[in-house]
Amino acid sequence: MSTVSIQHLSQRIQQMEESATIRMAQMARDLAAQGHDVISLSLGEPDFDTPAHIKEAAKKALDEGYTKYTPVPGLVELRKAIQTKFKRDNGMDFGLNQIVVSNGAKQSIANICLALLDEGDEVVILAPYWVSYSEIVKLAGGVPVLVSADIEQDYKATAEQVAAAITPRTRMLLFSSPCNPTGSVYLKEELHAIAQVVAAHEGIYIVSDEIYEYINFTGNHASIGAFDEVKDRTITVNGFSKGFAMTGWRLGYIGAPEWIADACSKVQGQFTSGATSFGQKAAAHALLSDMSPTYEMQAAFRQRRDMVIELLSQIPGMKVNKPQGAFYIFPDISSYFGKSAADKVINNADDFCEYLLHSAHVAVVTGSAFGADNCYRISYAASEKELREAIRRIAEAVNKLQ
Ligand code: PMP
Ligand code: GLU
Repeated sequence: MSTVSIQHLSQRIQQMEESATIRMAQMARDLAAQGHDVISLSLGEPDFDTPAHIKEAAKKALDEGYTKYTPVPGLVELRKAIQTKFKRDNGMDFGLNQIVVSNGAKQSIANICLALLDEGDEVVILAPYWVSYSEIVKLAGGVPVLVSADIEQDYKATAEQVAAAITPRTRMLLFSSPCNPTGSVYLKEELHAIAQVVAAHEGIYIVSDEIYEYINFTGNHASIGAFDEVKDRTITVNGFSKGFAMTGWRLGYIGAPEWIADACSKVQGQFTSGATSFGQKAAAHALLSDMSPTYEMQAAFRQRRDMVIELLSQIPGMKVNKPQGAFYIFPDISSYFGKSAADKVINNADDFCEYLLHSAHVAVVTGSAFGADNCYRISYAASEKELREAIRRIAEAVNKLQ
């Protein structure tokens, strides 16, 4: 019997980066398994459990026999609940045929990119951007075109910057608000200006990732798809992972023009079929029942945000802004570049994060994974005690840099 194995990975996969958020979370787990006291602020995942009434709804659905395949775009009951939610919270009208439920918003975004992009199509991505956007776009044959905003502009791109990035090959604009990794929230008027830029060009579609909708401290969430100019060319992405603390349930959805929704169902029908049946029943319940647990989580995140800003601001050289949503803070650490501690020189954000992991046992994610080389991301979806201790360790590590 031959023991020779022929290893051949596709170009597509060879060119794909591993998810830095997931890699860092695994490195933290590995270090903890070796007996180190690691605090992981790497993964963007609520530390709360799914609210009890949602879990109860899933158990009931199991008992009622919701254990079979569902229609590919989702149970009618869930799509109706999503339809109601879009109208209630976002002022958007979608027919049931315009809604597709998937195994997480991540899959929703992959469906969209596979449905719309041809080889060489350009996708304008507002940076800092969520780690998976660029890799999903590339996998679908698209070319990411980054429009960058730094901390001085609160990490928010302007309509003028978007206009300057558009070329005859532009097919899509992709961004999140509230934003992962910065926590920035685009205001209604900022979104309107961007909508007008896109509306002036034929054939460009907007993918608006609103998965952090319910973790917004401004009191106002604005959806770009609600503007008349772009309502026929916006795909609104959302999901249950963040607002309902349901990361492990794997449930996301889109509201889109019908022909795009149809194409997404077609892709999904070949890849994974419908999302988990009893999870969908519980998700419908989540959208239509008491949302006070969601708002309690939001209030807790806001408190932690304020604490984290206060503590980080006391560290010399650490530049922070005031994020208005999600559960991330994205400090600029370029003032440390060129400094060193013992034999470790910090030349960039990757070096800084590696230094924090090994010398302070705090896991965070490098800004380079999000298209921002001067920064790093802290997920403050952790207990106040862990956050205080992590920032104490970060301060200690930074103070050693010379
Ligand atoms: N978009 C953003 C901005 C995210 O942070 C996440 C979190 N993983 C996702 C999409 C994907 O979420 P889901 O768990 O629904 O796949
Ligand atoms: N969205 C989260 C994050 O950015 C979860 C991990 C992931 O899916 O990348 O950390």
